[in-house]
Amino acid sequence: MSEKKFAPASLAAQAMGWIDPVTRAVVPPIHMASTYLRDEDNGYSSGRIYGRADNPTFDQAEATLTALEGGAKSLIFSSGMSAASACFLALSPGDHVVASKVMYWALRNWLMTFATHWGLKVDFVDSDKTDQVAAAVKPGLTKLVWIETPANPTWSVSDIAAIAEIAHKAGALLGVDSTVATPVLTRPIEHGADIVMHSATKYLNGHSDIIAGALTGARDDAHWAKLRTIRAQLGTILGQTEAWLLMRGMRTLFPRVAWACTSAQSLAEKLAEHPMVEQVLYPGLPSFAGHAVAAKQMKGGFGGMLSVRVKGGERAAIATAARVELWKRATSLGGVESLIEHRASIEGPGTPCPPDLLRLSVGVEESSDLFDDLDQALKRAHNA
Ligand code: PLP
Repeated sequence: MSEKKFAPASLAAQAMGWIDPVTRAVVPPIHMASTYLRDEDNGYSSGRIYGRADNPTFDQAEATLTALEGGAKSLIFSSGMSAASACFLALSPGDHVVASKVMYWALRNWLMTFATHWGLKVDFVDSDKTDQVAAAVKPGLTKLVWIETPANPTWSVSDIAAIAEIAHKAGALLGVDSTVATPVLTRPIEHGADIVMHSATKYLNGHSDIIAGALTGARDDAHWAKLRTIRAQLGTILGQTEAWLLMRGMRTLFPRVAWACTSAQSLAEKLAEHPMVEQVLYPGLPSFAGHAVAAKQMKGGFGGMLSVRVKGGERAAIATAARVELWKRATSLGGVESLIEHRASIEGPGTPCPPDLLRLSVGVEESSDLFDDLDQALKRAHNA
């Protein structure tokens, strides 16, 4: 399918229009092979040697993601964490990194422990304040600036274009965890990012039934080759069945994200007026600190993630989560079912997450049902 002729939503729905050349099937088979036949002349004309490097089952997901992100190449990984950590393992001990203070907590922990012991020098900044990024980069020493936008779980928004300029001037690459924005709403490469990362476990798959990760590179260059090598050496590829499920999920990415955005916007507006809610954190609210930057770099909606700070503090927040019926109390995000989570409990000591915060991942249920369920839970928790 021509990327110039068809919109990203059409490319995703038809997984780039792939048809099996032998059977004319509109859905690809799952290739289970872990090894490939060598030619009589000792070559590998198929381009495939061994299953730890790649598998044809994820060709389609990689090609589709590349088209959706407007990048040069994509790599599918066994998890979001293995995709993200590959970007840091591609650096050398002694290299300097600037990273968002508010980001997926397990990656922040990995950077503070493994990555720093391994020799990276990491400075954490509030990357929604661009001047903090500018002050933290060390020209010639900083090799990677890493931001997550909107960032878990306060949804603070970082200005991708402004930070790309700062990173590039210092001689660094910019990596963006765009899990929450998805390529439906933001294409970071168009704003100057060099690498886009996704926990494909979330919106790309959308059905809470696989763990997967992805990187898309702006260029197919030596750095990209290094990332590919790291995946092949560590064997952090996605299994065949999971790769197939990922592609199946990506076909409905656009309608799922559009529905979640509309529903999340409506919930944010209603919850902002709720007597038991202290504050709603959502980039789509004009009162939200990052709204203007979000409006600049997010097109078609502000995402399906929001958080509420509950009046009455931590006790009231946990009591509210305990009283929902439709929302499911579980970690993760980006699936068709709506999830609610008292985030500080999972992040533990040292988290920048306020104790009264409930994180909401809006799925594709009827929005009024989701509001009514939260409303009754907030009221019952308040009266308990
Ligand atoms: N980035 C974000 C924004 C996430 O929410 C997560 C997981 O929750 C990750 C990265 C890590 O992804 P995975 O759980 O697929 O390893």
